[in-house]
Amino acid sequence: MKLNSPLQVYKYLPQINCAECGDPTCMAFAAHLIDRSKKLEDCPPLLKDEFKKKYMELLSLLAPEIRQIIIGVGERAKKIGGDDVQYRHQLTFFNPTAFAYDVWDTMPESELVERVKRISNFKKFYVGKFLKVDMVAVRCISGDSLRFAGAVKKVSETTELPLILCSYDPSVLKAGIEVVKDKNPLVYAATEQNWGEVAELAMNYKVPVVLFSSNLDKLKSLALTFMEMGIKDLVLDPGTFPQGKQLKESFERFIKLRRAGIKEGQKDIALPIMAVPLNAWLVYKDTVTASYWETVLASVFIVKYGDIMILHSLEPYAVLPEVHLRDTIYTDPRTPVKVTPGVNEVGTPAKDSPVIITTNFALTYYTVESDLSSNKINCYLAAVDTDGIGVEASVAGGQLTSAKIKDTFQKANFDFKEKTTHNTLILPGLAARLQGDVEDATGLRVLIGPPDSGRIPGWMEKNWPPKQK
Ligand code: SF4
Repeated sequence: MKLNSPLQVYKYLPQINCAECGDPTCMAFAAHLIDRSKKLEDCPPLLKDEFKKKYMELLSLLAPEIRQIIIGVGERAKKIGGDDVQYRHQLTFFNPTAFAYDVWDTMPESELVERVKRISNFKKFYVGKFLKVDMVAVRCISGDSLRFAGAVKKVSETTELPLILCSYDPSVLKAGIEVVKDKNPLVYAATEQNWGEVAELAMNYKVPVVLFSSNLDKLKSLALTFMEMGIKDLVLDPGTFPQGKQLKESFERFIKLRRAGIKEGQKDIALPIMAVPLNAWLVYKDTVTASYWETVLASVFIVKYGDIMILHSLEPYAVLPEVHLRDTIYTDPRTPVKVTPGVNEVGTPAKDSPVIITTNFALTYYTVESDLSSNKINCYLAAVDTDGIGVEASVAGGQLTSAKIKDTFQKANFDFKEKTTHNTLILPGLAARLQGDVEDATGLRVLIGPPDSGRIPGWMEKNWPPKQK
C-alpha cells in the first residue's frame, strides 16, 4: 500500500510538533513528504531508536511506484525513474529523462576526446538555468574487449559524466566495467541470449543493468529472474523501432510498461524505461534526415515514459528541441516558474538609466532581461511578486497592483531620489491601466512601455530620456 495523503503519513510520524524539521507541525511535514519537497531524514526524532520501526515502514510506504535508480557517482550522478503517476497533472514527473550521447570504440582517439568534450560542455541558458545533457554511451563496434576497455578509459579520463557501456558480449562488458568499476556505470544490455553472464557481472560489480527485449513477456521474465537473484537496479528497453507499424508498437509497449508499473502495481516491471532514438540512424543515412527523425523519436519518448535515452546527433537543431521539450515536460505543474522578486541591475545602470517593471514569472522576466541586455540597455529591472504569473494575467487577476509595485521598491530599499535623476517608472504596455494608480501610490512619473519587450529598443529611441514636463 502506497501512502498518498498527509493524514496517512501523519500516523507514522512522532506527532510531537517539535518543529525541528522546519515545519510547525508533524501534519505540515507529512504534506511535504507527500509532495517530496522534504525527506524522512529531515525529521530528527524519527531517526531515533524508538521510532526506527516507523521510519523503516515509511521508507517503504513512501517509495515511488517506479523504482529510482542512480547512475554514475559524484555531482554529475544521475537519478532516473522514481515517478508516482502516469499523467503529469496528477502530481508531477520527478527525474527528467537522462540524455546519453554515443561514442564508439573505433573512433580515432582525438575525435573521441573531442566528441566527449562536446557532450560534457553542452549547455544552453534558459529561464534562469542551464539546460545540459547527462551521460556518454560508449558503444563497442570493434568486438574487441581490449579496444573497448581502452575507449572506456579514455572517455572516463575526459569526463565526469556517468557512462553507459554498450555491448551484447559479456566479455566486452566485463572489460569495460573493470576500467570504471568505481563509477557505477549502466550496463547495456542483458538479453535472452546473454542474461546469465550479464547477471553475474551485475552481481559481482554491483552495477545497474538494462534488460532488452521487444517482447514484453520475455522482458518481464528477464526482470523477474534478475529480481529473484537480488539484482533490482534494472532499466527496461522494450525496443525503439524508428518507423512504420513497428514504431507504433514500440510506443504501445512503453505505455503498457508504465501502466503496468503504476496502475496495475506490477512491481517486477515498475522500473525506468530506456528509449534508443539513435536507431533512426539505422534507417536514415543523411545527417539532417536522421537527426530529424531521431529528434521526433526522442520527443515521442520524452512525453511518454522514456526515463533515459541514447542519442547520436549533437547538431543544435536536434539537441535544442530535445532539451527544451524535456524541460517543459518535467516542470512541476504545481509551482509557477518564478524568479525571486526584487530590483535587479541589467548592465551597469547610472542615474539617468530607466527603471522598468515586469513580473516574477520566469519566462517573462528572462525574456525581458535578455531583450534588454542583448540591446545593451543599462537599466534597473523590477520583478514584482505576482506568484509567477505573467503581466496581462496578473493585471486581470489582481496580482500586479500599484501596492505590489510600491512594495517591491520598498523591500529592495530602492530610493528613486538617490538612484535616479528622473523619478520615473516604465510600466509594461499590457499593464497600462495601472498607470494612474501607480502614480498615486508611488508619487513617481509613470510612462507606458511597449506591449512586448522586443520593442523596447525602438521605444527607447523615441521616449528616453523622458521629456521635461
Ligand atoms: S521534526 Fe518530526 S516530530 Fe518534529 S514537527 Fe517535524 S515531523 Fe514532527
